[in-house]
Amino acid sequence: MIRRTGPAIPVVGLLLVALAGVGLTRRPAAPAWPADHHMHLGSADLCARVAECGAYHTPAAVLAADAVRALDAAHVGRGVVLSSAYIYGLPSLGLPPDSVALLVRRENEFTAAEVAQFPDRLVGFLAVDPMQPSALQELAHWRDSRVLRGLKLHLTVLGVNLNDSTQRARVAEVVGAAAAQGMPLVIHVGGGTFGAREAELFMADILPRAGDMPVQLAHGAGGLPLLGDNHVAVLRVFAKHILGGTPAAQHLLFDLSFVPAPGEDATTTTRLMREIRRIGLERFLFASDFDVQTVEEAVRALDRLGLSPEERAVIARACAPWVCAPRPEGGGRPAPGEL
Ligand SMILES: [Zn+2]
Repeated sequence: MIRRTGPAIPVVGLLLVALAGVGLTRRPAAPAWPADHHMHLGSADLCARVAECGAYHTPAAVLAADAVRALDAAHVGRGVVLSSAYIYGLPSLGLPPDSVALLVRRENEFTAAEVAQFPDRLVGFLAVDPMQPSALQELAHWRDSRVLRGLKLHLTVLGVNLNDSTQRARVAEVVGAAAAQGMPLVIHVGGGTFGAREAELFMADILPRAGDMPVQLAHGAGGLPLLGDNHVAVLRVFAKHILGGTPAAQHLLFDLSFVPAPGEDATTTTRLMREIRRIGLERFLFASDFDVQTVEEAVRALDRLGLSPEERAVIARACAPWVCAPRPEGGGRPAPGEL
């Protein structure tokens, strides 16, 4: 999650009811986009604690059906649901480690149960707070899960300081453990004090532990709060390593949710796009950060990037293998052209 920008209003369900009422049948249109690579759900317990969930239910909760409706409204085929369980590690909640362990497990279980209701539309990632003593145990619990197939880490909101070698080593350990169980990663590194120096530390000491496993950096390696020139500087570091052939950088991907972020002006966006083009559009994935914004809002937000029609087509085709590749168990068959 990045932060709430406005209420999400599901309207597709109402439309379907209206069409049924006049005797029309609605054939779903072919998806315009194969996948949204960054979505969130929220259990009633989590939503009550953070008050950042859309008004879909009483008490507040964000369910898989809400995410699928948001995908349908934007004609997007599938979604990657990143568990919000890491939120229980927020310093502001002040929960003791045994409570965090219990609540993180519950939120990951909630996410898995929801995602499992839509095996042809949704894929899940579990989440942990890497600094918690229970993190490795939680990760191991989901080994070989067919529902939660990757790991989400949010370093910024948890206050992880990569200038501290002990914290850096701990994050590297968790990343290595996820890669060893065959899990791709989505990591939110950006925002706040994460600048060029921290990006170099991440490249040197953490990313190599992922081996050949893809690592998707959330929000194009940016995020909130905005601080000076950090987002551009961070992307420049990753561009340097990708173009320079650093082995650990070759499996980096970036998602485009909130790129540009609220508050990043046209000049900054132009500078971001310069780095994005150097890195190559094929490494950038469409993403919304639902339900912080709707999937439709994320599609419209792409207009701010100034993409050429050819560049937009590259983004429109992109689909990570964990969401579009055929699954051995036969579920979630990809539509033609999605790969
Ligand atoms: Zn998010």
